[in-house]
Amino acid sequence: MTFNRITKEMEFGGVNGVILLTFGLPLFTIWINKQLTPDVNFHTAVSYYFNLKQSGHLWLSYLGWFCGLVLMDIILPGQWVRGTKLRDGSQLLYKINGIWNCLLLILILGLRWLLTDGKMPELQYLYENYLELAMISIIFSFALSIFVYLNSFNNDFADSNKKNKKKLLSLGGNTTYPIYDWFIGRELNPRFLGGSLDLKLFCELRPGLLLWFLINLSCLHHNYLQGKNLVALTLITALQSFYVFDGVLNEEGLLSMMDIVSDGFGFMLAFGDLTFVPFTYALQARYLSVYESKLSMNQILLIVSIMSMGYYIFHSSNLEKSRFRQGKLPHLKSITTNKGTKLLVDSWWAKSQHINYMGDWFIALSWCLTTWFNTPLTYYYCIYFAILLLHRQRRDELKCSRKYGEDWAKYQELVPYKIIPYVY
Ligand code: NDP
Repeated sequence: MTFNRITKEMEFGGVNGVILLTFGLPLFTIWINKQLTPDVNFHTAVSYYFNLKQSGHLWLSYLGWFCGLVLMDIILPGQWVRGTKLRDGSQLLYKINGIWNCLLLILILGLRWLLTDGKMPELQYLYENYLELAMISIIFSFALSIFVYLNSFNNDFADSNKKNKKKLLSLGGNTTYPIYDWFIGRELNPRFLGGSLDLKLFCELRPGLLLWFLINLSCLHHNYLQGKNLVALTLITALQSFYVFDGVLNEEGLLSMMDIVSDGFGFMLAFGDLTFVPFTYALQARYLSVYESKLSMNQILLIVSIMSMGYYIFHSSNLEKSRFRQGKLPHLKSITTNKGTKLLVDSWWAKSQHINYMGDWFIALSWCLTTWFNTPLTYYYCIYFAILLLHRQRRDELKCSRKYGEDWAKYQELVPYKIIPYVY
């Protein structure tokens, strides 16, 4: 039986749509950053980045960061956990060691602070070469996704137990249109180094997320060295660091998410994880490092309240679903589907089909508010995130209605709202 059937359905407007996104998203990333820091001198010629004599130090820093994290991921201890059952019946093993990675990173930062008397040249380098590093990460995302696409045709498994089996491809990225499959991701779970490096989970949680944290820190550090007001910058750094470390420390929760279970690893995820997250999610901090913004105590309280409310909804609803699926909350009302799985229709999950998305969006809003209403540009994040969540909700609805059929229709009668109760 073949699990890798060819699909004819395409998202994002098909081949033309993904070509537009392939060029549009990197250009947008550079453009929006240039709007916030117009004075920054930045090499625009792509040839500069391929000339290793000129850009060698940038490549060395970026690859050092990426490979250093791969090394940390491999050598640091962790617990091996089984992922969700995939459509060929297999269950991959994942090493969960986010806590050790975070502790080591914080230890290194603390040591560098002490050894350099607070000067932290690495953070200054990151601040000063921010846009150059964004360009390097764009080129790297292209290279990585091309490599992974080509490698998806190589059926020599790193995992010797699977030698005679074909690689599991993602359903969405197996259309036979090379550009489309390269963009969406052809192979479902590319693994390297004898199976010990799961590239998709690694990219989702390490190089981009932690770089986002470091970029924020570099902005705070820059203004600290300049003796500027640090209130708004400290606030955004604290709020986003909390979110980053919450994600990295709860990495087990990611194993059941759509990205890991059904999306392939292609340019979309490589670029999203490695470039879009660090180099656009840090825009508020970048803005605040250039334009000082004073926040009153009432404004700070409002921002912290919105973030806390959003986080409470996001965290408790996700936790509730995950605990329910582990059989830990049997008293909650649910419907049993003919696939054998249960759909919760109680507590948070009676309010809307994706109440967790609503919480996540409030978190996004609180971050944008740290720049108050001084610029519309930092609010791009709220708008982009709303589009991402809406698109995700529609994809999930399609997936669930196909999977559960009539049971899904019954579920939708019981829980009619999709994201925002009584509104949508
Ligand atoms: P969900 O956590 O909503 O998971 C959807 C899946 O859960 C469905 O496919 C279905 O899977 C199962 N499910 C749906 N309804 C129910 C129910 N009532 N009871 C039990 N199981 C149900 O979506 P995501 O995985 O997309 O998102 C998880 C979190 O990650 C969200 O909080 C989201 O905001 C966040 N996120 C953040 C992003 C960022 O960039 N910051 C990007 C993407 C997501 P099954 O087939 O198992 O039934």
